[in-house]
Amino acid sequence: MHFDTKLIHDPRLFSEHNPSTATPIFQTATFAQSSSAANDRYDYSRSGNPTRDVLEQQLARLEEGEKGLAFSSGMAAITAVTSLVHAGETIVTGCDLYGGTSRLLGHLKEAQQIEVVYLHTWNDDALKRIREFKPKLVLIETPTNPLQKVVDISRVAKHAHKVGALLAVDNTMLSPYLQQPLNLGADIVIHSATKFLSGHADVTAGAVMTKNFKLGEKLAWIQNATGTALAPFDCWVLSRGIKTLGVRLDRQQRNARRIAKFLVEHPLVKKVFFPSLYEGDARAIHLRQTTGDGSVLSFTTGSLEVSQRILDRLKLCAITVSFGSVATTISLPSRMSHASLDNDLKEVELIPEDLIRLSVGIEDVADILADLESAFDSASTNIRKKKVLQSSASI
Ligand SMILES: *Cc1c(COP(=O)(O)O)cnc(C)c1O
Repeated sequence: MHFDTKLIHDPRLFSEHNPSTATPIFQTATFAQSSSAANDRYDYSRSGNPTRDVLEQQLARLEEGEKGLAFSSGMAAITAVTSLVHAGETIVTGCDLYGGTSRLLGHLKEAQQIEVVYLHTWNDDALKRIREFKPKLVLIETPTNPLQKVVDISRVAKHAHKVGALLAVDNTMLSPYLQQPLNLGADIVIHSATKFLSGHADVTAGAVMTKNFKLGEKLAWIQNATGTALAPFDCWVLSRGIKTLGVRLDRQQRNARRIAKFLVEHPLVKKVFFPSLYEGDARAIHLRQTTGDGSVLSFTTGSLEVSQRILDRLKLCAITVSFGSVATTISLPSRMSHASLDNDLKEVELIPEDLIRLSVGIEDVADILADLESAFDSASTNIRKKKVLQSSASI
C-alpha cells in the first residue's frame, strides 16, 4: 500500500462485529470481564482501549515500525523514551532542540543524576564524539527547531550503534510523510502529534514508534505504569487528522516555498532558515533522507523590536506557539516556545532574539503574502519615522 492510501485506510479492528466505517470512540474507563478468571484483552483504558489500538496501529504503519504508542502529549512521549535511561547513564542530544525537551533534560540531570551532553549534531566532527560519552540514548531532531539545521540520521545511527546506544529521532518537524527515520537506522521515532500529525491544533498528543517490537513492548509497559496514554476521544481526533496529512502537507509546502521566496527578497529580512534554500552538504543530506522541506521556516530581521513589530501587525497569521496546523501561525521562539531552555544549553547555543518562526498553513497563499507584506511595510515605516525623529532630535 502506498503512503497516502495507508493514511486513509486505518486498521479496522472491529469490522467483524461493527460495520461502522469510522472508528468508534470507546469512551469508557473499564471493560466488563467475561469471567472472574478471565484475562480479557481489555480491562482498563489506561492499559488498553480499542480506539487507541486503532490509532496505535495506524501510527506504527506510518513510520514502518513494529509498534506504535499514543501518549497524552509529545512531552509524555519523550518522557517515556528518556525513562529508558537510568541514574549515572548518559543522553547525548543536539544543541538546537525543542524548548520543552531541553527543560525536561535539565530536570533529568538535576533530579535523576542522568548525564546530558549537548552536541552540534549537524557537524560531522561533533558526531564522531558521540562514542566518547558512551551514551545509552541519542536523541536528535532534524531539521532542528527553530534553526532548521539538518542532521544526518544514518550517520548518527552508525555512531550511536557502535557504542550500543539507542537512537531516537523526534520527527515532529517533517512527519512520516516526508521523513521516515526508522528506515534510516533510528530505533525510535517520537512525535508531538499536536503538530502535523493531527494538523488542526485541536488536540495535544504524542506518539512513539519503534523499529523493534520488544522495545515497543517495554515502552508500552512504561506507558501503562506511568499512566500517560492518550484518552479515547483524543485518539479519535488524532486518527481523523492523520487521514489528511498528505494533502495538507502538499499544500503547506507549496505555500511555504512561495513565502520563502518572498522573505529572501524582502529588504527587512536578514537571514532565512529553510531546507530548500540550503546548499552543499546540508542540502545533500536533507535530499537523501527526506522527500520534502516541510512548511516551517524561520528568519531574522536584525532587531528584536522590528521582529516584534512585524508579529504585532499581522492580522491573518495568529501569534501562536506550536506549528503544523492548517492555519498559518507565527512566533518568536526566544520569547515563547524556547524561553525555558536548560541553562547549560543557553551557554552553547543561543537562539537569536529576533528570530521569527513561521508555520505555513493551507490558506490561499496570496492572503498570507498580503498579510506579511502589510505587516512588513508598517514595521519598516515605523523604523523610517523613528530615524527621522532621531535625526531631528540631534539637530
Ligand atoms: C511541540 C514539540 C514537542 C512537545 O510536544 P507537546 O505535544 O507540546 O507535548 C516535542 N518536540 C518537538 C519538536 C515539538 O515541536
